[in-house]
Amino acid sequence: ASTAVAYKRVMLKISGEALMGDQGYGLHPPTVQRIAREVQSVHSLGVEICMVIGGGNIFRGLQGSAQGMERTTADYMGMLATVMNALAMQAALESLGIFTRVISAIPMDQVCEPYIRRRAVRHLEKKRVCIFAAGTGNPYFTTDTAATLRANEMACQAIFKGTKVDGVYDKDPSKFADAKRYDTVTYDEVLQQHLGVMDASAIALARDNDLPIIVFSLDEPGGFRGILRGEGTYTRVH
Ligand code: UDP
Repeated sequence: ASTAVAYKRVMLKISGEALMGDQGYGLHPPTVQRIAREVQSVHSLGVEICMVIGGGNIFRGLQGSAQGMERTTADYMGMLATVMNALAMQAALESLGIFTRVISAIPMDQVCEPYIRRRAVRHLEKKRVCIFAAGTGNPYFTTDTAATLRANEMACQAIFKGTKVDGVYDKDPSKFADAKRYDTVTYDEVLQQHLGVMDASAIALARDNDLPIIVFSLDEPGGFRGILRGEGTYTRVH
């Protein structure tokens, strides 16, 4: 079988919750390791990989502000949570022999690199996996928006959004047996029908820059590699 892939550079977006396994909170090292192996398998195809990992397994800004904390403070805590997840993923990838850089939107030089666009591009050219941490560096945004922003800046050909299900459905497939998966759906349909792929600002940013979003299941072993080679089921938002 040919190993040819249509993609040269991609963004993989996963939520923080994808790293917590069956626990209700935090990091589950075997799960982090499993996802790192999925990334390794795509890296071995020669694809340049950007990653953005959420922070919801540790802290979410909205949660904090609901408990009376100032929203901006809570959001900064959420951004810091994404740095912890990025470091965990970096450690897992490097244990597999993959050179990785964590690049933070909020400079913290002792911990990781600050974001400098041209430097990040150079890392990608050298086949280092770049994990973009601390979201956009601004409160009131999400890591979905950060993933879309960095994907545009890095000229990725698509965002691969790894979720628990193999695409976008018209209703929650875990609740409705007759939920229907879309093969493709437009950005505007996602926005108008509130299809919950990503938040509205992320969808709009992808739309305005013609950046396709591919929603696929991260639970399927080999799923990420398969999708990149055009196999398996997924939804393409375009
Ligand atoms: N966050 C933020 N600005 C950003 C990205 C993230 O303020 O650009 C904060 C926000 O509070 C958010 C938290 O970081 O709730 C964690 O990110 P997110 O909710 O996107 O994580 P996920 O749901 O993907 O795990």
